[in-house]
Amino acid sequence: MTDSLTGVLSRDTFLSLLEKCVAQAREDGSRVGLVQVDIDHFRELNVQAGHSVGDELLCRVADQLASCLREGDVIGRTDGDEFALMLLDVLSKDHVALALARIDEVLSQRVPAAGPGIHFTVSAGASLFPDQAGDSSELLRCAQAALQDARARGVPGKVYDQALPALGTTEIHARDVDKAIRSSQFDLYFQPKVDLANGRLRGAEALLRWQHPKRGLVGPERVVAVAERSDVIHALTLWVLNVALRNCASWHQAGWPIHVFVNLSTVNLADHEFPMLVQRSLETWQLDPGVLQFEITETAAMDEREQVFRVLEDLTALGVSLSIDDFGTGFSSLAYLQKLPVREIKIDKSFVSQMLHRREDETIVRAIIQLAHSFGLQVTAEGIEDADTYARLQQLECDAAQGFHIARPMEAAAFLDYLEGRQDVPLAIPGRDPLIE
Ligand code: C2E
Ligand code: MG
Ligand code: MG
Repeated sequence: MTDSLTGVLSRDTFLSLLEKCVAQAREDGSRVGLVQVDIDHFRELNVQAGHSVGDELLCRVADQLASCLREGDVIGRTDGDEFALMLLDVLSKDHVALALARIDEVLSQRVPAAGPGIHFTVSAGASLFPDQAGDSSELLRCAQAALQDARARGVPGKVYDQALPALGTTEIHARDVDKAIRSSQFDLYFQPKVDLANGRLRGAEALLRWQHPKRGLVGPERVVAVAERSDVIHALTLWVLNVALRNCASWHQAGWPIHVFVNLSTVNLADHEFPMLVQRSLETWQLDPGVLQFEITETAAMDEREQVFRVLEDLTALGVSLSIDDFGTGFSSLAYLQKLPVREIKIDKSFVSQMLHRREDETIVRAIIQLAHSFGLQVTAEGIEDADTYARLQQLECDAAQGFHIARPMEAAAFLDYLEGRQDVPLAIPGRDPLIE
């Protein structure tokens, strides 16, 4: 089946062909390259210039991409503004890098403007079977990760770099993560988040910990990076979500109707079933959706796939709120983020922890707070390690605070003790959203 607009293969046809070609390559020992190409800011362009200009642009990009292919290679449209190219009988990673360079050359020089004043750029990511991925879905994920990396770095294209999610010397595999979920090796820690205006507790962020029987404590970033390379990320996120909500329900029972903040992976945002699973978990623990806030990284929020946008909207339609984590580390603009159903941004700790010693960091923090407020967004500062930084952020009218100065992340039981020990916070009414008062 072909895509009716551009004439290239439709998503389903392309993906099933990719699966077949990868299976074939596994048998005959050949390599398959996958390139994903995404038009930057397509959604905005579509709105500003009109859908007919957007459609015209998609057709021209499809034509130009097709002109980069050798005989036997295949092109498909895998999402609204996303194309994928499958390169067969690839010899090496350099071959894929050459394909990326050619795509960049062709698109930057030869696409006639789709209309007066229409400028556009694309981001591309590539990956290689069997060097970087064991099957077609992993191949897609690696190409997507490379694409996001290229976009975050502001370069036109990038080949997936195995070192991308730094795995260190002791390799951990997706099956280890799967086993760890089944054998209860994971734990969730909770770190309080307080209101800067009055010191009241707003809630706690759930942070993943893995006490590995042989390797000791493995950090969450490494676990998530490994899990993201396979389907196990879905099981991991559901585990985190359920444990976080179970604990949140116990805080509410103990008289603390506070929020729980849960981190998500980009992969979760591309899963259209995710909002339904979230709804079920909330029902299981009999919690109001308003108590749950998801934290997504800035890079994930910049993912312009239609599917991601839909998942974000479905989540907010449930009544769950969204926050942009590690803000300031990517290249997004608040103007763009404001178009997403986002309620809060969290200033990355790299700006906060040194802000009293580095003038430029303080300038950035101040600017982010002012601008975010002008867009009606709440601001949390993370990584507050001392009282002076806390006080400065109060002066700057930052809304909420998190960091070692307030409390370190702690085990669930320790967090309940911490709640018991807090006397300064008047209790809110159970079920009521403490943020909108
Ligand atoms: P994050 O969401 O930005 O979480 C904040 C990180 O900063 C946590 O590291 C926390 O322990 C640390 N932190 C908190 N206060 C301070 C401070 O005052 N100073 C300093 N230097 N650090 C502070 P952690 O727990 O190692 O988590 C790292 C990242 O891993 C998180 O960053 C989040 O992006 C990711 N992560 C953690 N748990 C999960 C999870 O369940 N799912 C997903 N997808 N990602 C997770
Ligand atoms: Mg977070
Ligand atoms: Mg953060």
